[in-house]
Amino acid sequence: MPELRKDPVTGRWVIISTDRAKRPSDFVRDSVRIRGQGFCPFCYGNESKTPSEVLAYGRNGGAPNTPGWTVRVVPNKYPALGIEGDLDREGEGLYDRMNGVGAHEVIIETPDHCATLATLPERSIEEVLWAYRDRVLDLKNDRRFRYALIFKNHGDAAGASLEHSHSQLIALPIVPKRVREELDGARHYFREKERCIFCDIIHQESESGARVVGENDLFISLAPYAPRFPFETWLLPKLHGSSFENNQSSVYAALAKILKDNLMRLDAVLDYPAYNFMVHTSPVGEETNEHYHWHIELMPKLTKVAGFEWGTGFYICPTPPEESARFLREAHLGVST
Ligand SMILES: [Zn+2]
Ligand SMILES: [Zn+2]
Ligand SMILES: [Zn+2]
Repeated sequence: MPELRKDPVTGRWVIISTDRAKRPSDFVRDSVRIRGQGFCPFCYGNESKTPSEVLAYGRNGGAPNTPGWTVRVVPNKYPALGIEGDLDREGEGLYDRMNGVGAHEVIIETPDHCATLATLPERSIEEVLWAYRDRVLDLKNDRRFRYALIFKNHGDAAGASLEHSHSQLIALPIVPKRVREELDGARHYFREKERCIFCDIIHQESESGARVVGENDLFISLAPYAPRFPFETWLLPKLHGSSFENNQSSVYAALAKILKDNLMRLDAVLDYPAYNFMVHTSPVGEETNEHYHWHIELMPKLTKVAGFEWGTGFYICPTPPEESARFLREAHLGVST
């Protein structure tokens, strides 16, 4: 019998296939292979081919937009939103509109064209996380922005147009609906129980262990009870924290560790899948609160979203999270870092 499960935060229902659950080898996919052919604007020596950098680490002295950096952040050459101008919010009858104002930046995670976040040393991943943090803190000074979303598309199938490892940051003048649903669900739960729902999830999951993928002193990674996608995992700080950007350095070090570990497990179990991840944090101006708990959602691209999902907002997940967690937990990893 398939199972209907409800996500306790958002109230979203999913259908979990239980009988003929798909194993890792059942998914048809293209493994992400880095070919390194053709011109790459993110490699050393091509700094003039991107918009001028807004942040770079690692370059000791030396002019901006020259080689020598370890992490480099530039505005997206083809931004989804424009950085100049006012919002001019207005109504057109019952419709709302505003100008497409926002910031769209690219975090180039390494000068090494062939590296991935899974193969980079932990120390380099930590630097990438610092770049996320620094850019979010800076963009929050812009009073037009309400939310900063950090996300990564890895591989063609997950929407990456360049293979050189990078992530993206979009600062928005509104709080996105997906995030709003989580915030509302978490606030509702807190009003009733005076506890953070994510803290409760962490507590319950680490007691049972069935959906835990891994953990270290500060983080836990788990397959959520009602995942939308097979092998979806969430990375959560064990101590309550409501925003990604306000943490001590030990938190970013521990996050780098568990993120690398999880990505290596995905590569091992699913043969280098394309994936997306996104950082969910509190909106600008609501950074410190008791109800929302920042986290990263990580989903390999294994299934297609089709008519049923579009029509209902339900998702059909062909692998129970207990099984995906077990596969990931028991993955054989090579030498790490
Ligand atoms: Zn490159
Ligand atoms: Zn919490
Ligand atoms: Zn989330």
